[in-house]
Amino acid sequence: MSSRFKVRAYCSSRSCEYIHKEDIVQALNYETSYGIAEMLNEADSKPSCPACGEEISYYAHTVIDEPWLP
Ligand SMILES: [Zn+2]
Repeated sequence: MSSRFKVRAYCSSRSCEYIHKEDIVQALNYETSYGIAEMLNEADSKPSCPACGEEISYYAHTVIDEPWLP
């Protein structure tokens, strides 16, 4: 079974549902994707949400490839 480890971006505002459609980073393992998300979250200048203008946040996201699917 293989998994893919990604970093995704979403709006930090609780009242906004914006999630960036494309993955920001695809990493080799969870630790790497988590580390990249942390690094991006600690950056001084973060992009703002195109929907509401609030700050964008990043999170590590794991995709588990379903073993029973071709
Ligand atoms: Zn937003």
